[in-house]
Amino acid sequence: MSSLSNSNVTIIEQEGRPGLHTSSRNTGKVHAPFIYNPEKKKVWAKAALYGYDFWKKYCHFNGISFVEDGVIEVAHDVESEKTLSLQLEWGIKNGLDDSEIKILNEREVSIIEPNLRCQAAILCKKDASVNYGQITQMLASQISNKNNLVRIATCSKVVNIRYKDPSKQFIAVEYIDSTQKTKKETDCSFLINASGSNSINILNNLHIEHPYQDLFFRGEYWVAPKKYNNLTSHSIYSVPQFQQFPFLDPHWIIRSSGTSEVGPNACPVFSPYGYSNFVNAREFLPKIYGLMTKKGNRINKTFFRREFLDLVSKEAFSSISKRYMINRVKRFLPAIDPKEFRIRGTAGIRSVLVDKDGSFVPNPIFIIRDNILHILNYNSPGATGAFPISYAIVFRLLEKGMLKNTKDTIPSKMVIPFDDKLLNACRDEIDIDFV
Ligand SMILES: Cc1cc2nc3c(=O)[nH]c(=O)nc-3n(C[C@H](O)[C@H](O)[C@H](O)COP(=O)(O)OP(=O)(O)OC[C@H]3O[C@@H](n4cnc5c(N)ncnc54)[C@H](O)[C@@H]3O)c2cc1C
Repeated sequence: MSSLSNSNVTIIEQEGRPGLHTSSRNTGKVHAPFIYNPEKKKVWAKAALYGYDFWKKYCHFNGISFVEDGVIEVAHDVESEKTLSLQLEWGIKNGLDDSEIKILNEREVSIIEPNLRCQAAILCKKDASVNYGQITQMLASQISNKNNLVRIATCSKVVNIRYKDPSKQFIAVEYIDSTQKTKKETDCSFLINASGSNSINILNNLHIEHPYQDLFFRGEYWVAPKKYNNLTSHSIYSVPQFQQFPFLDPHWIIRSSGTSEVGPNACPVFSPYGYSNFVNAREFLPKIYGLMTKKGNRINKTFFRREFLDLVSKEAFSSISKRYMINRVKRFLPAIDPKEFRIRGTAGIRSVLVDKDGSFVPNPIFIIRDNILHILNYNSPGATGAFPISYAIVFRLLEKGMLKNTKDTIPSKMVIPFDDKLLNACRDEIDIDFV
């Protein structure tokens, strides 16, 4: 924001460092756009396309790992082969070049990945592996060190937001400083609520009506033993069994460090921070009560859908049974043995919005009320799309006059000099719909 406008920016973060939650607890993929339907998931599709170029430049510029390892998605039957053909079309529509994506038959797959078993596959070269946790820490230190327009207030949990004047031009943000155990306040003229899974709670505290409810799903991983590190040279996905839901089936992941993992599943939990059974047991009743008592609640439409129950039971069972989870990947990578997996990876929690009809919301939601922008449903590939979507948002806010440039200061230098072509593509093609 400070590089496109000359605003003074304060980032308020409850933890000791930014990005300790979902941004450090994910699969670490710079996702290729072929898995996103260009009509239904248009924001994610374009964000994935340009995210690759942003992260590649950022990582190279800073000398950190950006492994261009590509991805293979496998199909086991005629139905999932049809999905591959459809995804090839989506990939091209979303902006991939013919040379970056192709369908492989069984024989072609076995030449590239001899350990893989499938009927057919899609190979996309424009997919990479990074460590988003490391990147977030680096970005945070760069913007707060070099850039005097940006301040990061850590250990500061926002507890209340109120307006200081009747015209709602000035906003007071109250937060608890956990180092000094005191309540503090800071003022601003524009606020972005980008608090991940907590965004909807902040929206609710402002009593803003909306049709959404949030469900939480924990994505868990198992770390593969070293001897499996060279089983494949690509990360491997399979066509998801339940394509109407916003989850992929567990994959074979190659991390940017070269280690491999199996995951993530999508086990239902009851808190955005429900990493442990203790937290989930504590939050179970309040969450269920909250879901059932919301005005106009249609969450039962989601819960009683047959496919949803099938999905949830499969995903929950993958959480309880290591063997079951690993076997979902063993289906296409028969060389792996569940007994050899002994270490759990770092789980992350998705907060997914359901609308008043009980359907999962496919895109991120941007709600603006009285100088506050609330970003909701910011799921996968949110890490991939972080740069393009942030730029697109700031362009849109400037265009609408919601962020104003003053004459006294000039915008700060960008963390790295992204070229205008890339920035203009984000401005022109990523459709940020403020509602
Ligand atoms: C299992 C899993 C795998 C994924 N894999 C990928 C992937 O491979 N590629 C990809 O592109 N995307 C992936 N994603 C999605 C991606 O990680 C997220 O879209 C992205 O990290 C979300 O970023 P965020 O900043 O919105 O949320 P977060 O990273 O959770 O940040 C929100 C921040 O707000 C802070 N906060 C919350 N409430 C308050 C408060 N009251 N006061 C102050 N601070 C507050 C939190 O402490 C946190 O630091 C994955 C997600 C999951 C769960």
